[in-house]
Amino acid sequence: MSSEEIPPDHPRAASLRVRHRITDGLDRNIVTKAGLIAQGRGEAFDYFLGEKTPVPAEEAMKVAVALILNAKHPVISVNGNAAALDAKSTVDLARETDAKIEINIFYAAPGRVEAIRDELRAAGAGELLGLGDVAPTTIAELSSNRRIVDPRGIKIADVVLVPLEDGDRTEALRKEGKLIIAIDLNPLSRTAQMASVTIVDNFIRCMPRMVELSQQLKKMTRDERDTLISRFSNEQNLLASIQVMVNHLTSLIKKGISLSVEFNADAQSSQKK
Ligand code: ATP
Repeated sequence: MSSEEIPPDHPRAASLRVRHRITDGLDRNIVTKAGLIAQGRGEAFDYFLGEKTPVPAEEAMKVAVALILNAKHPVISVNGNAAALDAKSTVDLARETDAKIEINIFYAAPGRVEAIRDELRAAGAGELLGLGDVAPTTIAELSSNRRIVDPRGIKIADVVLVPLEDGDRTEALRKEGKLIIAIDLNPLSRTAQMASVTIVDNFIRCMPRMVELSQQLKKMTRDERDTLISRFSNEQNLLASIQVMVNHLTSLIKKGISLSVEFNADAQSSQKK
């Protein structure tokens, strides 16, 4: 089914359109088969959130944007799913915050980096790192493909935004002394636990919001942003995100047997907002 063929009155139309971005990305060599599974895992946790941005995620986003704005060498690391889901907001966030964009993928396949590059360029990207045009360097303690990084980007970065990440790389980057911002709907993943700031929200909702927040936080002083950062505890924020999920599930249980129908209707109306 193409995106145009999804009936607008389908109860899960918004979710299907997002899913189509991923399957279309697979057809265009941007996304891998494993990327489909990662998206499915994320979607499951999004149900627990009621498919809306929770308060703890909004707080984590502010801190994340403050960190990026106050960093010396901030980098946004982009993989296939991120490029397929929202290349435009990725590029906009980099521009608003003066961050570099580096393409970094787990599964190398011929033409894949170029497909992601083209997607980002079509969304308005300027300079892109990770294209292999300079001799790459590596991150210690990582054996996967993702250890290969650009010496002008992730290697020298002090703050790295890693959406839809795997835990090993987050851990390895932390060991290199970098502050890591993760976007992960699963608060229990190793990535979520290892990151300095974890935004437990859907990439599709939080990236446009982070672009807005960067416009607002740029008006604050560096010290004001530092205060925001110093008050943040990732552990507390993760616990608060899990509590949001528990509360949502508890409220569904209280509603009784018709909950799945009501849930779908609720989710659809919140997606339309
Ligand atoms: P870890 O190694 O950190 O335990 P994992 O093995 O689950 O994580 P992957 O299979 O690479 O890692 O999955 C990537 C993560 O991205 C998953 O935890 C999933 O919840 C999350 N995810 C997938 N799609 C989205 C999305 N659209 N928005 C936010 N998070 C997402």
